[in-house]
Amino acid sequence: MYTEIIQRFLSECDYINIHPRAALIDMDGTLYDSMPSHAKAWRQMASEIGLELPEADFFRYEGRTGASTIDIIFRQEFGRGATDSEKKELYRRKTEIFASMPAVSPMPGAGQMLDFLDVVGIKRILVTGSGQSTLLDRLDVDFPGSFSKDLRVTSRDVKIGKPSPEPYLKAMEIAGVKPNECFVIENAPLGVEAGHAAKIFTIGVNTGPLRPEELAEAGADIVFSSMTSFAEALPYLIYGFITNSRNLN
Ligand code: MG
Repeated sequence: MYTEIIQRFLSECDYINIHPRAALIDMDGTLYDSMPSHAKAWRQMASEIGLELPEADFFRYEGRTGASTIDIIFRQEFGRGATDSEKKELYRRKTEIFASMPAVSPMPGAGQMLDFLDVVGIKRILVTGSGQSTLLDRLDVDFPGSFSKDLRVTSRDVKIGKPSPEPYLKAMEIAGVKPNECFVIENAPLGVEAGHAAKIFTIGVNTGPLRPEELAEAGADIVFSSMTSFAEALPYLIYGFITNSRNLN
């Protein structure tokens, strides 16, 4: 199963095999159908400081920390970086708008994926650029027992954030695994870029409005069109990891 894709990855990264011990899992757009609300909240915050930006822009920034997103908007629109107090205040305002919006739903298929990982003994690690407590606090309610507090990397734990490999390197450290002992599950191009840069097998799940090619171009080793189709395929993919060793011929 998935032999060609796995062999290509092993040869690119010069690994002998993949021994899956941990899944490094993004939150927004992966576990929660939250990206449309985030994009709306960002757009409203921007409009309050006189900037009319298309919502689609925010799907491309997805994965970055709030501070990094604000800095990019400032460089683009004002020709200078944002100060620390601007980053803090504007991110506070964006989280306030997001928190006032109707509650977002767990992504269909996410629970099934998490349950399967648990059954086969693969550790689940949360790796998010978010620091938004509205969702972080709901994880235990929506996905009980899935992410203990010490198995989470959030915006509070990183300096740079995605698309740097930093959050995924940190996640491997807390899981105690090597790059060929885990895999990444991401919905956004910048998150995929981060997983790929960490030399981890990276699964792109296209749950938003972007073209699937954008995930492949960012470095996804395989792309699924929804979390439900990924959850269905996951047992076969794991089987593929376990049964493929690098073909050295
Ligand atoms: Mg995401």
